[in-house]
Amino acid sequence: MKFNRNPVEPVRVTSTFGKRNTGIKGASTNHKGVDLGVNRALAKTPAILTNKAKIVTNGWNAYRGWYVVAQIDNIYSVLYQHLERQSPFVKGQTYPAGTQVGIIGASRDKTKIPTMSAHLHFEVWKNKVPINPAPYLNNLEEEEMEKTYKTLDDVPSWGKATMSKLIERGGITPDKDEINITHSMLRIYVSLDKMGKL
Ligand SMILES: [Zn+2]
Repeated sequence: MKFNRNPVEPVRVTSTFGKRNTGIKGASTNHKGVDLGVNRALAKTPAILTNKAKIVTNGWNAYRGWYVVAQIDNIYSVLYQHLERQSPFVKGQTYPAGTQVGIIGASRDKTKIPTMSAHLHFEVWKNKVPINPAPYLNNLEEEEMEKTYKTLDDVPSWGKATMSKLIERGGITPDKDEINITHSMLRIYVSLDKMGKL
């Protein structure tokens, strides 16, 4: 499966997938998707359908806020949550890649959960199990996303300081000196580091 479009343009990951021990205050320990930042050049940032997909859910949940689940094929679905208001999509209908899902917001039940700034929490489900969406994002199409750096020595110079910091803090624990970090994860960690969120 490949995305024809990114869920947000330009795509910027502000919080990564999975079990996290990165020292990010208040971040959940098992994040089932990625958080994507709004486009600062726009007053309202649209969320975009990555592929031609059928809408299976368009509704409200206390934690997800206004959210949409769209089924790409028999295996893959994508989920968009915290939309500003309910999506105009009709459940059961199929829409082409690039269709606007809604406006990125910060919706959820604010009586139960603390407020947050607007972002898109985005999930990819493979056979209904959330998987890391990062490798599917197309901002790195010129780069070898799946390339794995085995040890700190293999990490390119632009990522070394960030990786050293992560290892030092226990965010990554080398196994016999092997860190086995993918290029896409390295990119994400470096951008978090630059934002002072590592
Ligand atoms: Zn999230």
